[in-house]
Amino acid sequence: MQTHFPPERLADSDMAASEQIIRKCVHCGFCASTCPTFDLLGDELDSPRGRIYLMKAMLESGEAPTPDVVRHIDRCLSCLSCATTCPSGVDYGHLVDHARTYIEQRYRRPLGQRLLRALLAGTLPYPRRFRLALRLAAFGRPFARLFERIGPLRPLAAMLALAPRHVPARSSAHPVALPACKGRVALLQGCAEPVLRPEIRAATIRLLERCGQEVVLAPGEGCCGSLVHHMGREAQALDAARRNVDAWIAQMEDASLDAILVTVSGCGSTIKDYGHMLRGDPAYAQKAARVSAIALDVSEYLARIGLPSAVAAPALTVAWHPPCSLQHGQKVTEVPVQLLRAASFNVLLPADAHLCCGSAGTYNMLQPAIARQLGERKAAALGRLTPDVIASGNIGCMTQIALYSGVPTVHLVELLDWATGGPRPAALPADMG
Ligand code: SF4
Ligand code: SF4
Repeated sequence: MQTHFPPERLADSDMAASEQIIRKCVHCGFCASTCPTFDLLGDELDSPRGRIYLMKAMLESGEAPTPDVVRHIDRCLSCLSCATTCPSGVDYGHLVDHARTYIEQRYRRPLGQRLLRALLAGTLPYPRRFRLALRLAAFGRPFARLFERIGPLRPLAAMLALAPRHVPARSSAHPVALPACKGRVALLQGCAEPVLRPEIRAATIRLLERCGQEVVLAPGEGCCGSLVHHMGREAQALDAARRNVDAWIAQMEDASLDAILVTVSGCGSTIKDYGHMLRGDPAYAQKAARVSAIALDVSEYLARIGLPSAVAAPALTVAWHPPCSLQHGQKVTEVPVQLLRAASFNVLLPADAHLCCGSAGTYNMLQPAIARQLGERKAAALGRLTPDVIASGNIGCMTQIALYSGVPTVHLVELLDWATGGPRPAALPADMG
């Protein structure tokens, strides 16, 4: 695609990088065939190619975008299905990340949107505040139907629908010191996952320790910054990245780390990208690249070290939902299925497994109408497999799918832990397996 950026604008390295990405696009439109928003809305401006045109015009102009341009870019899920499909290798993810930051810095959103975004950015990345917000949701729930009827308040209705009715107790799971270990790994503690499903961390620690791994929870580490990164709040995202880099580098200086493991694939994509995000920061560029180089989805590491022998081997049919951030963002596709099969589960994939479930970080709260359609479609596709259980690798996908499906939804590691000697996942009925 030809570009016409004024030379002075290309002095900005982010702008120069975006220009190079745009120039790789050959307008072929192949990407539209796998874009969930184009599929639903049928508007070229809600396709990857249409959005690339909009982003090109916006960035070339150097001006504040119009509300219409913001609307089409906001509707993008950042699912990166288009990047998987693109034959020209267009790095859509980094382009849309830059566009979101550009919008955040130059566009004044209506008051309601600003308040909603500030609420999400000030709550979700902080486990204590998030837990409190979930408890307060009980007071808002009686008004959910009213919120649903008032356009600007629909995101509140979506938030209430997603909030669990019972907030789980904090997990007391903590690694133990092993007399001898085969490897040493740091496990991301994260933000939303331990509040919504504390049992995922407990299962991960048990499973890794059963594999002879020393597990480290690095003091000072927290939210990876992904949620605010995808809202264009770059300063907040980079602060989170620097804090985590410091925490993990301190662990590496204590003793070598074989990997930094992540059980939320959206967070894994972001941590693998810390090297890119902090490339312009001389104090952090190298350290961030070191962290990214050893960041792995938990499934990748389990495949590397091998599972302990299956002891319980429950004869269950598992519908595997591959999170977009895992299959398109990290290009991890086969490994989770192979692990589940190695643990003797019967694993099936739904039709259109490449399409997003509509969770996408904060998307299901910011774009509830589109997210609902995608969630209903995904739950229906999974349901047609008549599984005993749905498994995934991202708490966002699990929460979204559970909203529209009556089938128990668990994390991959909960099943692997169970099959190798751990307890039955709490979401499964007592008579299962
Ligand atoms: S990231 Fe997903 S929603 Fe956005 S343009 Fe690409 S395929 Fe479409
Ligand atoms: S598939 Fe790639 S090259 Fe073709 S229009 Fe989409 S982004 Fe551009």
